[in-house]
Amino acid sequence: MLFPDDTGLLAQGRSTRLPRHTAQWLFERSFRSCRAPYSGGTAPDSHRLPRCAVPDVRVHGEKRQAEGSGAPWQVWNFSRLCIGEPGADRGAILEKNGQMSERMGRYKMLGRALAGAGSVVFLSCLPSGRSEAQEREKFHQGVDYRIEAYLDEGEETLRARARFRYTHRGHGTIDTLFFHQHLNAFRPNSDWARRDLEFGNRRFTDLGPEDHAFERLLSVSIDGSPADAIYPGSPDSTVVAFALETPLEQGESATVLLDWESRPSTLPRRQGRRGRHYDFAQWYPRIAVYDEGGWQVQPLMPQGEFYGEFATYDVTLDVAQDQVIGATGVPVQGDPGWAGASSAGATEESAPPQLRDDFYGSPPEESLGLLAMDPETGRKRVRWHARDVHHFAWSTNPDYTYEGGRHGDLAIHVLYQPGDETSWGNRVAVDRTIRAVEWLETVFGPYPYPQVTNVHRIEGGGTEFPMMVMNGSASQGLITHEVGHIYGHGILANNEWKDAWLDEGFISFMTSWFAEEADGATRVWERSLGMVAAFEDRVTPQPVAIPSADFLDPRSYSTYSYSKGSIFFYMLRELMGWDDFRRATRLYFETNKFEHVNEYDFRVAAEAVYGEDLSWFFHQWLHTTHRLDYELRSAETEQQDDGSWITELTVARNGEAWMPLEVQVGSVRAKLDSKDALQKVSISTQGKPESAVLDPDMVLLESTRENNRKVVEER
Ligand SMILES: [Zn+2]
Repeated sequence: MLFPDDTGLLAQGRSTRLPRHTAQWLFERSFRSCRAPYSGGTAPDSHRLPRCAVPDVRVHGEKRQAEGSGAPWQVWNFSRLCIGEPGADRGAILEKNGQMSERMGRYKMLGRALAGAGSVVFLSCLPSGRSEAQEREKFHQGVDYRIEAYLDEGEETLRARARFRYTHRGHGTIDTLFFHQHLNAFRPNSDWARRDLEFGNRRFTDLGPEDHAFERLLSVSIDGSPADAIYPGSPDSTVVAFALETPLEQGESATVLLDWESRPSTLPRRQGRRGRHYDFAQWYPRIAVYDEGGWQVQPLMPQGEFYGEFATYDVTLDVAQDQVIGATGVPVQGDPGWAGASSAGATEESAPPQLRDDFYGSPPEESLGLLAMDPETGRKRVRWHARDVHHFAWSTNPDYTYEGGRHGDLAIHVLYQPGDETSWGNRVAVDRTIRAVEWLETVFGPYPYPQVTNVHRIEGGGTEFPMMVMNGSASQGLITHEVGHIYGHGILANNEWKDAWLDEGFISFMTSWFAEEADGATRVWERSLGMVAAFEDRVTPQPVAIPSADFLDPRSYSTYSYSKGSIFFYMLRELMGWDDFRRATRLYFETNKFEHVNEYDFRVAAEAVYGEDLSWFFHQWLHTTHRLDYELRSAETEQQDDGSWITELTVARNGEAWMPLEVQVGSVRAKLDSKDALQKVSISTQGKPESAVLDPDMVLLESTRENNRKVVEER
């Protein structure tokens, strides 16, 4: 068992607040206990909740509404409690303290009250659907990172220091700061590892001490005073909390100094290390988002991704002289190594590398003291600057080859590995990245950052970061998808663990739309429509818009978030028409860029363009498990006196869902928009029709399509 002691601070005996001895208490962590209200869906079942890590577990708990005044949101605190040693007295303590934890802001009190008693996690959440009457109030907190980091390749460890300035711009009083330490997911006994085990996957459970990732805090001070780290999810340590001695009111700031060391895992998962190649995707204490629902903290899990706060980053990396670096932001000082690593075949256009180092003017460098001396022999420093980004990622590898390109003023940087000369090199990846950006700009709007970096990471697949994608291949689909996320998750920062469909579904849809429009692909949707329908035949259907961790298993998570999520947008595009859908996406982007977004924001934009209420569509396809099935019961035709033919169709609506339906007889089409269970329609054709078909263009997700077609019979 690896307890948070292992993350540094506690090992130094600095925290007396965290329970360290007998962890009889474990609140069941994660958002699984917080569910958006939805109707018609599957009720949460206890069997799909993870088992507690202690024996003799019994689950006990309830949802609590926020009490007290002034909170414009609902907060549900810990809903399930796992008790290792069943005992009424301990339960009573929790009940009592439950009252105290009505707001995340009261965390401090709860933490103190439970010190020595066990470990505790509770999380707040907000229903993702909101009432029509509630106007969305936009704000994001003010966040400013200055980071100095030294990569010690001998120890395979990064040592770093950050000065973090946080300004509270939202409502309420903040008396605790929450950070994520995501690298701590990729090690034994994290929530991630234990969730994996439920599905027989031991990948991080079996990682040895030399191989697993970590992110250890060495010292933390807030406004000059030492601060104790609280790991509410112990033994998981991907969420850390610090009580503020002086709570922050709106407009007030705190400055945090953090020293830490971190290391990616040798088994890559959206980060990793292999030899001298490091993918530093998660590597620093990343402030959690405080939005209108309060603090949004979540242990990092295999199902579900990230949610980040917009920030300014000024990052100095001290690395070996021969390292070649790709990162979020622009290099404002030092040499990232691109010129020296440029491919021999680089064209005139791609060399010398276009740094865009003046994009942010000349931000002054402030020393934190970690890199006070000159660089050691054989080492170099590269300082990066980025604004309006919610994550700073970087990758470094002395074997990277660099190729660059440009799209207007936008700099494209590609870093590929030995062996990629034909699959990535020779401008293949550069040109595909430019194609992706060009097309995405027609849908969303101008790309607002100075650069896109596309690196060949250690792991397969791909992951998006602001201004940067880390990909396992240079396929056009993958590049379009990940660069699309820079828009759909980076600039429009949704909460991926609550609304995975809003970026994975949306961007999967965009990837397919690119294939249709830019590449002229046909029958793009047929396979996924059939796949989702067949999947829903086999499983207990779940609504699309539920927290990622609530999906029964990884397959359900991916099918609902990616595939059915993309079909949601496909059906909406077909309902609205391509032009209106494009306008809606543009409006969504323009009105929400550099803000946190959710379902409401997209629906507002879609309705503004469409001019009609779309709540039924969003509700039906996102928040219910209702299925759609139209059946062509009969198709009979009769010749008229003038020689034409009138065909009468009887159409039954079998499923609970409803959509406008197009029907076709011969070559003539008609639209049915009644919600009746049985509809009749007559269609006139010049010649005698042979067959009739429902939804001829396959724009609807139907549970079965077998009953959509009939041979027309003469009366
Ligand atoms: Zn994706």
